[in-house]
Amino acid sequence: MTARKGVSVLGSTGSIGRSTLDVIARHPDLFRVVALTARSDWQRLLAQAVVHRPELVVLVDPTHASALENALQAAGVHATVLTGVAALETAATVAGADCVMAAIVGAAGLPSTLAAARAGRRVLLANKEALVMSGPLLLDAVRASGAELLPIDSEHNAIFQCLPRTRPGLAGSGVRRIWLTASGGPFLRLPAEEFAAVTPAQAIAHPRWRMGQKISVDSATLMNKGLELIEAQLLFGMAPGTVEVVVHPESIVHSLVEYTDGSTLAQLGHPDMRTPIAYALGWPDRIESGVQSLNMLTLGALHFEAPDRDKFRCLALAEAASHAGGTAPAVLNAANEVAVQAFLEGRLNFGGIPAVIEQVLGRIASVAITGLADVLAADRAARLAAMTAIAG
Ligand code: NAD
Ligand code: MG
Repeated sequence: MTARKGVSVLGSTGSIGRSTLDVIARHPDLFRVVALTARSDWQRLLAQAVVHRPELVVLVDPTHASALENALQAAGVHATVLTGVAALETAATVAGADCVMAAIVGAAGLPSTLAAARAGRRVLLANKEALVMSGPLLLDAVRASGAELLPIDSEHNAIFQCLPRTRPGLAGSGVRRIWLTASGGPFLRLPAEEFAAVTPAQAIAHPRWRMGQKISVDSATLMNKGLELIEAQLLFGMAPGTVEVVVHPESIVHSLVEYTDGSTLAQLGHPDMRTPIAYALGWPDRIESGVQSLNMLTLGALHFEAPDRDKFRCLALAEAASHAGGTAPAVLNAANEVAVQAFLEGRLNFGGIPAVIEQVLGRIASVAITGLADVLAADRAARLAAMTAIAG
């Protein structure tokens, strides 16, 4: 019998974290949970720790740490409890964590994702913002340590599934283009004139996927697809202009890979993140995920159309940042995080999100990335500029 793989789940209380634990619980013979982390939801973290019995539990916000510690003890769970942001890197590199699920949302996940890559672990990358921000740095860390970087984002996981198994890279594989599918979000048919009146509740009610708040808003603005375009170029080494976004409202085809011989391969499935999570956890084997297969007899019609970049300006802004390169994607990401937070808190209207990002991109010049300091400086400057733009 082979040893069970140890898994550290960063952001375990979130949507991806919960789906990850759901898949792990189906395979007690294959996986054991080594570490769990959350920002502040200590009660959910407690419940997860009682079921999965990790050795390490991280609660970034220390407010309820002693309550958590006492409750764990009372439940007979002998886990070390750490608080503070630095503890996320401890969880990412803890002994016995063969796999690290990077499922913290936003730039807050960058240091722990980088740490897992540097430590040579199998990194299951849900936290696309970390890759978009630090691009070449994260990829270099993976190469230098011999880590594995497996995409969790459903589109990138689909592309990964449709690519040949040859390594390294895509050279000579005959890949011509990647088709990145987008659901179009809840406002696909809403006239742009009505964007100003959109409420946070409407924006986070995604028609196909149940996700965390931030990525739900990103899906509504199509910034999510912009971040994913940058993510795809980085992950698969695609030249600019060879990743094409196509709107597919049913969210059944999760992306496609076009080859020089006229073949186009696609991965299909119900929109449920447990499929890509199970694929990455089990890779190169396939394991049960709890997701039902498609029934092709009842599936019905699938539709594809071009995205409207005038209406969804975030997509065009992300393409421009990708083209500019250097720290521009980090600036885009930071401005977006600040704008989305302001929108969720009622300080900015929905149409204001791309306007703020555009202002910030115009104000902060992109510089080449020579180290993490460049990325963090761009992130800080962009946050400040975005807050100023929103306040003014
Ligand atoms: P979520 O908001 O549901 O969960 C976020 C998790 O991160 C929580 O456990 C939270 O405690 C933790 N967290 C948040 N801020 C933190 C901070 N400052 N420090 C430490 N921990 C913090 O988000 P989600 O929907 O699970 O998304 C997680 C990541 O996965 C995002 O990068 C998202 O883009 C990506 N992703 C999500 C989905 C999806 O279906 N939910 C699909 C593809 C990609
Ligand atoms: Mg996605």
